[in-house]
Amino acid sequence: MTTFNLQLFAPGLAAAGVGVQGRFVGGRLHLQAEGLSLEIPLTTIRAKAAGFDGRQWLLEWDSAEGLCSALLQGEADIQALRAGAPEQLAGQLQAARRGERGQRRRFHMALLAAGLVLALPFLVLLLFWLNAERVAGWAADQVSLNQEQRLGDMAFAQMRPQLKLLEQGPALNMVSEIGTRLTAGSRYHYQWFVAQDAQVNAFAMPGAYVVVFSGLIDKADTPEEIAGVLAHEVQHVEQRHSLKNMLHGLGWRALLSLALGDWAGGIWANMADQLGSLKFGRDMEREADMGGLQALRRAGIAPQGMASFFEKMAKQDGGPIELLSSHPASDERLASIRSAIAEQGAYPAQPLRYDLAAIKASLKP
Ligand SMILES: [Zn+2]
Repeated sequence: MTTFNLQLFAPGLAAAGVGVQGRFVGGRLHLQAEGLSLEIPLTTIRAKAAGFDGRQWLLEWDSAEGLCSALLQGEADIQALRAGAPEQLAGQLQAARRGERGQRRRFHMALLAAGLVLALPFLVLLLFWLNAERVAGWAADQVSLNQEQRLGDMAFAQMRPQLKLLEQGPALNMVSEIGTRLTAGSRYHYQWFVAQDAQVNAFAMPGAYVVVFSGLIDKADTPEEIAGVLAHEVQHVEQRHSLKNMLHGLGWRALLSLALGDWAGGIWANMADQLGSLKFGRDMEREADMGGLQALRRAGIAPQGMASFFEKMAKQDGGPIELLSSHPASDERLASIRSAIAEQGAYPAQPLRYDLAAIKASLKP
């Protein structure tokens, strides 16, 4: 005779239940323990799955004293019950079996969901490393113009003390006049600066700050070459390349700050440090070249200066050209600037009438 163990709960018994042994005799379920013996007609028993994963079975029946129940806690006991159960109970046991499967499925779904929630930050990180460019682009899209402005203000405020900015003079006038022509109709409000610095360099920052180093002006042979560099730099702002680069450089911390709306956090403070080492990628350089050529055309400025200046820098054998470290130039890049200029054909351009020799002289310390 197959027996199985159950925990019996019934009115008058300990709340924690009493361990009993069960077996089927005739049309009844016999439950026995020390000083206790019950016989329950099978027709009154309802069976169902219990426990969070359906691995327990509960038998319930009504007695004169009230609702009683008995719990089967292990697979072995459940098997023994099923093996010994008479026909009358078959329907009930099948229902319990179905309930058990359903409950187990729900439990596994819940486990899966919990696992996903726990793994989510790691998935986001993984996504970021696999797809950093696109994620940085997405992050940049979350930044409003106002936020971009604040970001740029902060970064520029940090950088400003290290720059010897000219307050006035013909060089500053030239840069801001050409720059203003190149950015007519832009959604950004540009601020133009000339820094007293022998490096051949220029940079544009989010929030529309553009800084040209005196070393770059010194290297230029025509105002059109300076216009070419400005047209290129400005496109990195217009197309939010600098913003994307910053977000990319700051990585997941920037994403977190964006998600939390934490603009005051220390995270943005390292921005200025980052800026110096940020390098534009090949695609961004190409976009800036092509957008820059269109801006030159709109402004009625001859485009050849852009090509000749970058070409001159690429051929330079002397000291390091700082502009090239952030804006890598290649033969391929120069060739596509040349062919884009040829493609767009000649257009009426007004020569930029600046006395470059006098402007260079004004910059000599
Ligand atoms: Zn560039």
